[in-house]
Amino acid sequence: MSSSGSSARTRFAPSPTGPLHLGHAFSALTAAARADALGGTFLLRIEDIDRARSQPDYETAIFDDLAWLGLHWPEPVMRQSERMAAYQAALAQLAPYCYPCRCSRADIRAALTAPQEGAPPMGPDGLIYPGTCRGRSLSEAGPNDTIRLNMRAALAAIDGADLRFDETGPLNPGTHVLAADTLIHAVGDIVLARRDMGTSYHLSVVVDDAAQEITEVVRGADLFDATAIHVVLQALLDLPRPRYHHHRLIRDAAGKRLAKRDDARAIARYRDEGYAVSAVRAMIGLTKCA
Ligand code: GLU
Repeated sequence: MSSSGSSARTRFAPSPTGPLHLGHAFSALTAAARADALGGTFLLRIEDIDRARSQPDYETAIFDDLAWLGLHWPEPVMRQSERMAAYQAALAQLAPYCYPCRCSRADIRAALTAPQEGAPPMGPDGLIYPGTCRGRSLSEAGPNDTIRLNMRAALAAIDGADLRFDETGPLNPGTHVLAADTLIHAVGDIVLARRDMGTSYHLSVVVDDAAQEITEVVRGADLFDATAIHVVLQALLDLPRPRYHHHRLIRDAAGKRLAKRDDARAIARYRDEGYAVSAVRAMIGLTKCA
């Protein structure tokens, strides 16, 4: 598992907001196996920007669960709550394409559904923002505003940039080229800084994957569509672009994706009940020993 002479680096980046379950086990073991296959290093990062939902006990449990699975990683572990200065610096760099937004989710939904029928359009960052606050400038940002990226302005600034990424995962392998039109209409003005956090998942993940020199981002297929956002941010911030490896999701018997609250499939539960790691690996379709 762990390190060797190659410069390949993968990571597992859990949020300490609940017990890790079989889906996390699969993700962590896949990231470590990819590092192994590439002769590189597997890293851990704690994604705890959501201070309201993150808990130290869950963080301790992450270390225990991963160690039980037989994983190792270099210390110290990067913790996003300690990285606010880096996110603020990135946000300052993006300021020319940013605006403050005071819309609530209900405002957005109302603006999207009023003139048309059916479900409002969803992108990888949730509802596609209708642009209500787009004319506002950062100088009028209030403490309760979120900060959004003006996608059209951002793309104009990086006109001609190579917006593509290489996918090594089993579901959509190959090179994915991103079209400006899709980014504007099917992704839209995403949130870069949430009102309660000063950053967002998208901004932090891009800044930190670069800081940790990750060469292959291994994560669940649910984040495949978010990769478009990450590629745009990498281009705007002039950061290197890793390869991506999105893996299948672990589902319950009914075909539903496992959730944090699904304690029945928590790794700790299998550990406490005396399961062997090999049995847990077999449950998620990993029969070969690490
Ligand atoms: N912290 C994210 C999660 O727990 C992982 C994001 C990523 O791997 O890019 O879902």
